[in-house]
Amino acid sequence: MIDIRDVTVRYGSLVALDKLTLHIARGEAFGYIGPNGAGKSTTMKILACLLRATSGEASVGGLDVRKEAEQIRRMIGYMPDFLGVYDDLTVDEYLQFFAAAFSTPRRERRKLIDGVLDLTDLTEKRHELVDGLSRGMQQRLGIARVLIHDPAVLLLDEPASGLDPRARIEMRELLLELRNMGKTIIVSSHILSELHEMCSSIGIIERGRLLFAGTLEDAFMQADVGRRVAIRVESGVDRAMALLQEDERCAEVTVEKSDVVVQLHPDERSVHFLLERLMGQGFHIEGFTAREEKLEDVFLRLTQGKVQ
Ligand code: ADP
Ligand code: MG
Repeated sequence: MIDIRDVTVRYGSLVALDKLTLHIARGEAFGYIGPNGAGKSTTMKILACLLRATSGEASVGGLDVRKEAEQIRRMIGYMPDFLGVYDDLTVDEYLQFFAAAFSTPRRERRKLIDGVLDLTDLTEKRHELVDGLSRGMQQRLGIARVLIHDPAVLLLDEPASGLDPRARIEMRELLLELRNMGKTIIVSSHILSELHEMCSSIGIIERGRLLFAGTLEDAFMQADVGRRVAIRVESGVDRAMALLQEDERCAEVTVEKSDVVVQLHPDERSVHFLLERLMGQGFHIEGFTAREEKLEDVFLRLTQGKVQ
């Protein structure tokens, strides 16, 4: 669906994208991750046909961003990182305005708008003024706006930035819903852990260069960071720790509060053996969870710690 080949973008002497090559398949939810200034927004603007590359080629749905911008704009929903909201417009009027801008037939607008209001959970706010909404609601309205013309591809530039934890969860749920609708999504963030749960693949960019693209599992492999899990046993946490310490597949086993925390060797992908060993010795397992904080290690390793 998205094909970027050797795209370089220069702003004067600054190289914002350096021979970027990236392919994203139809239906993929791609998390585009990198520190501020890495080139995420620049990539999105190229795909949204708002910026011309200095060199290289890019296409969306097989259409060339240089030659077929008009058709691409009908296929994509682009939500920029900075969303200007309009004073003195209600949520409904705001969406009416964008529906008109996309020349949707007047008869169909009501139904379309009701649909996107429902999807973004803003139905109850339809008569409220846009600039009075919370930041989370404004971001959801931004998504509602880019859904009006039912685009196949969504380019969402940092939709979760500046949101409180609750609004972040709501945003994540909305993105999952869009993914289930079969849309191809590129969503950017400077925080890896914000995206991994809803993305089928991720790309890590830094200083205009793509350092990695693939699944999260691949990222772990490439970064050589082993998986980490926390296991809660009903009793005998110290004995459980000692048992797992004997296993050479475990790089490190510690106890944190009442959990046994296991750091696996990087090439060890399976976690079943942990349960088998413990259960084989009569331990009752109360909980088994992946520890996510090490994701940041993946990020740091892949970006060689050069995060700003
Ligand atoms: P990100 O979205 O990952 O934070 P951007 O794509 O916005 O990164 O920016 C990439 C680099 O290009 C940064 O160094 C930024 O300062 C620079 N840049 C972005 N837009 C412009 C512009 N219009 N003029 C000059 N430099 C720019
Ligand atoms: Mg940006």
